[in-house]
Amino acid sequence: MAQLFFKYGAMNSGKSIEILKVANNYEEQNKSVLIFTSGIDTRDEVGYVSSRIGLRRKAIPIFEETDILQYVKEQEPTPHCVLIDEVQFLSKEHVLQLAEIVDTFGIPVMGFGLKNDFQNELFEGSRYMLIYADKIEEMKTICWFCARKATMNLRVDDNGKPVYTGDQIQIGGNDSYYPVCRKCHSNPPL
Ligand SMILES: [Zn+2]
Repeated sequence: MAQLFFKYGAMNSGKSIEILKVANNYEEQNKSVLIFTSGIDTRDEVGYVSSRIGLRRKAIPIFEETDILQYVKEQEPTPHCVLIDEVQFLSKEHVLQLAEIVDTFGIPVMGFGLKNDFQNELFEGSRYMLIYADKIEEMKTICWFCARKATMNLRVDDNGKPVYTGDQIQIGGNDSYYPVCRKCHSNPPL
C-alpha cells in the first residue's frame, strides 16, 4: 500500500541529502522518481534540491497555482515515487493533491520540510502534512550551540542578532537560520 510520508526536521537535519539518496535508490533499480520543490524564492536557486554537502539536482518547482496531481497524472511512464522538498511552503490544497496521488494512483509520496517557523508556528504545508500523512518521522540534528536535539530554527539578522518578529518567509532576505534546542531558541549565546 502506498503511503504519504512526512519527514520533518530543523535546518541542517539532512532532508535534502535524504531526498537525493532516496531518488538514487529508486533509479538504481530503474524505477523513475519525480522530484518537486517549492517555487518560493528563498536564497537557493529556484528549481533545485541542494544539500549542504554540495550535491544538488534539478526539481520541478511548485507554485501556488501548480496542480501537482495533474502533473503526476500526465507522466508517462507513471513514476514509482514522488519526492517533495520544502514541503512546509505548500498550501493545504497541494497537500490534499499529494494525498490523492497516494490514494487514487497508489504512488508513494514523501514530503520533507521544516515543521515550525522561526516564531514556532506551524507552516501551512507542515500543518496539513501532520494531519494527512500516514507516516511521520523526525529527522534529528543537534543544536548549533549545545548538545541537545535541535527542534527549532533561530533566525538571525545581518549582524548575527536573533530575530523573533517578521514575516514567516523572507523573500531574498539576508537572514540566516540556526538549528537550535528550545532553551537556546529563547536564550541563544549570541
Ligand atoms: Zn541548545
